[in-house]
Amino acid sequence: MSNAGLWQSAALYYGLLEIEMRKTIELAERVKHLPPYLFDKIDKLKKQARSKGVDLIDLSIGDPDIPTPAHIVEALRAAASKPEHHRYPSYEGMAAYREAVTGWYFRRFGVRLDPVTEALSLIGSKEGIGHLPLAFVNQGDVVLCPSPGYPVYAVGTMFAGGEAYLMPLLESNGYFPDFSAIPEDILRRTKLMFLNYPNNPTSALCSKEQFIEAIELANKYNFIICHDAAYTEVYFNGKRPMSFLELDGAKDVGVEFHSLSKTYNMTGWRIGFAVGNADVIFGLGKIKTNLDSGVFQAVQEAAVTALNTDDAILAPLRETYRLRRDALYDGLKSIGIEAVKPEATFYLWAKVPARFNSESFAVHLLENAGISATPGNGFGEAGEGFIRFALTTGVERMKEAVDRMRKII
Ligand SMILES: *Cc1c(COP(=O)(O)O)cnc(C)c1O
Repeated sequence: MSNAGLWQSAALYYGLLEIEMRKTIELAERVKHLPPYLFDKIDKLKKQARSKGVDLIDLSIGDPDIPTPAHIVEALRAAASKPEHHRYPSYEGMAAYREAVTGWYFRRFGVRLDPVTEALSLIGSKEGIGHLPLAFVNQGDVVLCPSPGYPVYAVGTMFAGGEAYLMPLLESNGYFPDFSAIPEDILRRTKLMFLNYPNNPTSALCSKEQFIEAIELANKYNFIICHDAAYTEVYFNGKRPMSFLELDGAKDVGVEFHSLSKTYNMTGWRIGFAVGNADVIFGLGKIKTNLDSGVFQAVQEAAVTALNTDDAILAPLRETYRLRRDALYDGLKSIGIEAVKPEATFYLWAKVPARFNSESFAVHLLENAGISATPGNGFGEAGEGFIRFALTTGVERMKEAVDRMRKII
């Protein structure tokens, strides 16, 4: 065979091989069994509306529209030019970062933590939340997850081979799980419980007594509590949400996840942390050291600057969200939509009008008012009948959204 012929048949062979391989690439069961992505339809409709030139008011995004404070950006700029930061960071975070984290916890919550054994840097708290079950959950172990809730709790559980048991957060229980409704055999198999206050998506806070109830249950059934505290700094009415770790015995049973994302408008930077029980931190660290190489040190240095900033810079941010909340809450009330008036987080959890369900109302808002919001059932079945509005656009747009809704409800 001529050279050209040889090449031709080789190309044909490898070409066929490629087609053959593509045909046999099969997703793993854990991916195949992911819960259906309920925002698919909404995302498609959003894209369609935008391409048709609709002036979309997007109230669906849990991502601050306000930029990171300038002095934090400046700190990154300065740190980025230091060659010592251009090398691999450590997976557990720089000592200076972990000290800034524990210092912030002491100043903010009065909680004392050891920066060496009780604090760990994360590539955003989502990363830590998603990886934690890999360290502690065996096949068939149960993880208690709130529903509605941040989807990562249940998905991380599933990836680790665990079974997510959903605890409904209902209006009738103040959006806190009713532990007495969890069957005994489930509690006996429970390895972990996720909680999240201030809560996304319901905006609910929880009381000290409720946290104590959770700690007692964890002690009785010997499981770990992971408290997701992403929104403790986004609050109104002067009521400062507490840390789970403020309570006696909390550190014996659990850890808290936190993040700079929502507090300092740093969602894109990917930096967060876990603090609390040293054994839990150690286990999560084991997973991380085998999977990732930590956070860019310049980002950690900028995060140190953020955490050491006077809390006073957060006051205007809270005021901005409060004004938006009032505009949207009062507006919804005026058109007969009932909602939880948030005391924290930048979400508003509203009941959909009776002739709709979560999804049909979200679709109605998109198609007929050019407004996107997140259907409550996307956070779990217990969110059916609700819709989540994010306060991540300005007051004028909130008012405009209400005006548009008034015409179609
Ligand atoms: C935004 C959010 C997080 C995490 O954000 P990161 O950017 O990954 O730190 C965690 N939990 C909840 C409930 C959130 O809404």
